[in-house]
Amino acid sequence: MNLLTKAARGTQDVLPADSYKWQFVQDIMLKEAELYGFKEIRTPAFEHTELFDRGVGDDTDIVQKEMYTFNDKAGRSLTLKPEGTVAAVRAVLEHGLLNDGIPLKLTYITPCYRYEKPQSGRYREFFQFGVETFGAASPAADAEIICLATTLFERLGISNLSLEINSIGCPECRQAYRGALKKFFEKHREKLCSTCTDRLEKNPMRIVDCKNLECQKIVEDAPNIIDFLCEDCEQHFKDVKNYLSESKIDYKINPKIVRGLDYYTRTVFEFVSSSDSNRSLVCGGGGRYDGLIEEIGGPATPAVGFGIGIERLILLMQSQGIEIPKPKRCDIFIATADKTAQTKALHLAKTLRESSFYAEIDIVERSLKTQLKYADKINAKFLLVLGEKEFSEKKAEMKNMASGEKFIINLDNDFLTKTKNILSD
Ligand code: ATP
Ligand code: MG
Repeated sequence: MNLLTKAARGTQDVLPADSYKWQFVQDIMLKEAELYGFKEIRTPAFEHTELFDRGVGDDTDIVQKEMYTFNDKAGRSLTLKPEGTVAAVRAVLEHGLLNDGIPLKLTYITPCYRYEKPQSGRYREFFQFGVETFGAASPAADAEIICLATTLFERLGISNLSLEINSIGCPECRQAYRGALKKFFEKHREKLCSTCTDRLEKNPMRIVDCKNLECQKIVEDAPNIIDFLCEDCEQHFKDVKNYLSESKIDYKINPKIVRGLDYYTRTVFEFVSSSDSNRSLVCGGGGRYDGLIEEIGGPATPAVGFGIGIERLILLMQSQGIEIPKPKRCDIFIATADKTAQTKALHLAKTLRESSFYAEIDIVERSLKTQLKYADKINAKFLLVLGEKEFSEKKAEMKNMASGEKFIINLDNDFLTKTKNILSD
């Protein structure tokens, strides 16, 4: 295999034929986030490994086997970020952003790196759109980001996505729940996968998350965390649901959505496509993580956020046959018969481009005839042909390529005004 002309496994190029879809989606994401008051943050592609592997018994897939970790030339251990939240939290703490007032609302589009088995919708480099609200414990903050996600999907034209929510309470509620879970799974110990038998001792909540079908079957009858919520968590969940109902956002309660890490609290949610046979291909999810900032060394700060995988989102849009507006078409091709004309053509194109028209000229020294074919090929809306005669008469013909209609343009001062009028019509 020629490695020089082969992208690394699990990575992909976004080619010109598709990049406009990415631009469209990302543009809608950032603009929608802006309407909700989220400001963009950009964090580096790599961070100190300790940020992701904090040695707090984190046994998630990411920390256990998916991280791209390497030593740099000075022997520091660095890791390509596998997700966006933790890097954002690091930046918030490093720059003291919480001192500027709360709530602090951040958004980003970031590449993420995970050493996974590549398949459709699962890559080693993928992009996540995320939002994070810091400093707001109120259920309104949870509802606000769910609302943002819902409107975003709507704006992208996506249908058949269902919102599933749950509450996983606080560390206190979970203590009783863990006990009950352990007791329940203990009865089914011999049927659990080997990873889950391990989890039984360390963190039985992670069994609820297991993708193994046998384990999932057992999980169906397992106790649910919502039956163990303390009064405050119960009220918080009730309020979130009220906000959603008032905002006419449909949701379903899925008591089986859990997150096995201590820093996650209360609201969790996922957007599931009803056409997905495979639940793991949900295109996004999020929730509250009131314990994370403290875990990273900051002051106890409530936080809530979500992340959406952009590749999966675009795949979903394609599977739903959603038409993404095609990229801008060439407004005008300026064809030239000789070198003198060509030199002037660049200047004319420059003036048009300064007025935001998409103009093209010949830059590969084609014959006039081939230039005309090329103008046709790129589907230019108008054609302007320039040669010696045109410059001596200070007049040229501009042709509407679709209708064949012709216009005479003066090449002197009112070139721009007249051309603009015709192009804008
Ligand atoms: P999965 O269960 O499919 O492995 P996850 O629970 O690891 O997903 P999160 O860590 O919650 O996913 O990441 C948020 C989002 O990022 C996912 O909902 C998905 O859209 C996207 N995502 C996660 N891993 C990948 C990947 N390897 N390739 C493409 N997108 C991904
Ligand atoms: Mg994963």
